[in-house]
Amino acid sequence: MDLSHIFVRIYVNGLNLLSLYRITARKAKIMSEINPCLSCGACCAYYRASFYWAEADDATPGGVPSHMTEKLNDFRRVMIGTNQNKPRCIALAGEIGNAVFCSIYENRSSVCRDFEPSWSGGRPNERCDNARIAWGLSPLEPNIDNAPDNLPRAA
Ligand code: SF4
Ligand code: SF4
Repeated sequence: MDLSHIFVRIYVNGLNLLSLYRITARKAKIMSEINPCLSCGACCAYYRASFYWAEADDATPGGVPSHMTEKLNDFRRVMIGTNQNKPRCIALAGEIGNAVFCSIYENRSSVCRDFEPSWSGGRPNERCDNARIAWGLSPLEPNIDNAPDNLPRAA
């Protein structure tokens, strides 16, 4: 739905809100096309994110912030919030399906680093598709230029 007509006559500090709306919408579209994870986040609120215990920063400096993890068993930890019904990782910020980011992106675990959006390697990822579907989002299309590794990814 195009809401731009609502803003036609509205100005704030000399800025036409219609222009702001268009710029913001264009920016969001560009970011989404560059990295679809930035407007998704579904996998971070669908799967359990567990990893070898020593990936946490109390064992490995610069690792996963340990205060955001909890013990899963003698060998593995899990991101708080993902080992429960209706999971949502404690580190996920934003609104799923709209605008999200991983608040510990540089320190996220191997399981998160290894999770690829569909078609990022030229092939679908069924787990990505299933998480998106569960959140009412369409699976990614193969023609989208997905997720170069130099941009934040939600999972
Ligand atoms: S990997 Fe897939 S499910 Fe996870 S945030 Fe990216 S697009 Fe969404
Ligand atoms: S990528 Fe970040 S927000 Fe997503 S599950 Fe991993 S730590 Fe949590």
